[in-house]
Amino acid sequence: MKDISKVMQILEKHLHYKKRTTLNRMRNTDPFKILISCLLSLRTKDNTTESVSDKLFKIASTPKQILKLPIKRLEKIIFSAGHYKKKARTLQHVSKEILTRFKGKVPITKEELLSIKGIGPKTANIVLCFAYNQIVLPIDTHCHRIPNRLGWVKTKTAEKTEKELEKILPKKYWLEFNGIFVLFGKTICQPVSPFCSKCLIRKYCKRIGVKKSR
Ligand code: SF4
Repeated sequence: MKDISKVMQILEKHLHYKKRTTLNRMRNTDPFKILISCLLSLRTKDNTTESVSDKLFKIASTPKQILKLPIKRLEKIIFSAGHYKKKARTLQHVSKEILTRFKGKVPITKEELLSIKGIGPKTANIVLCFAYNQIVLPIDTHCHRIPNRLGWVKTKTAEKTEKELEKILPKKYWLEFNGIFVLFGKTICQPVSPFCSKCLIRKYCKRIGVKKSR
């Protein structure tokens, strides 16, 4: 527990994550835009998500406006986000659900968010955390991999990591956990060959499963 707090403090102090990740820059802005950006971000780089979201929101930024776009036009707008056909369908389906079932407002509970096809646990938690400041843990691939390497948890899936972290991570770090670990995972503790030689938290890390490092 002492080490966990120390690690969080070191990373928070040195990463300046608030200015460096798209979601942190969007924090507490329009929940619908946060949701749409999150859906666009799947398997896409942060910079691309940001530019595609900007492009889309200049043309359509509400459920009604996204639904009004012909699907081919929507596909063209979001093309560079990758998987554009599937994402365009998801964006329109989610917009329709929000309009018809939730009076045009992004739901505020996890159950309701998960009841919309296309929204999974990670996206739901991101909306709750970044749009509604709820104390939840959005776990993506970085937030799953790094606590396993550190030896904080021993889990095979993001869902299990979320459950285990809920038990050991002090609540005061939950809001910032995703922003910090995503940025740390992209810059230092990278998936294949992490930069352990310049890692600020190396002395707290068990480096579990790390076969190759720089
Ligand atoms: S020491 Fe290496 S594996 Fe451990 S957190 Fe740092 S970069 Fe990741």
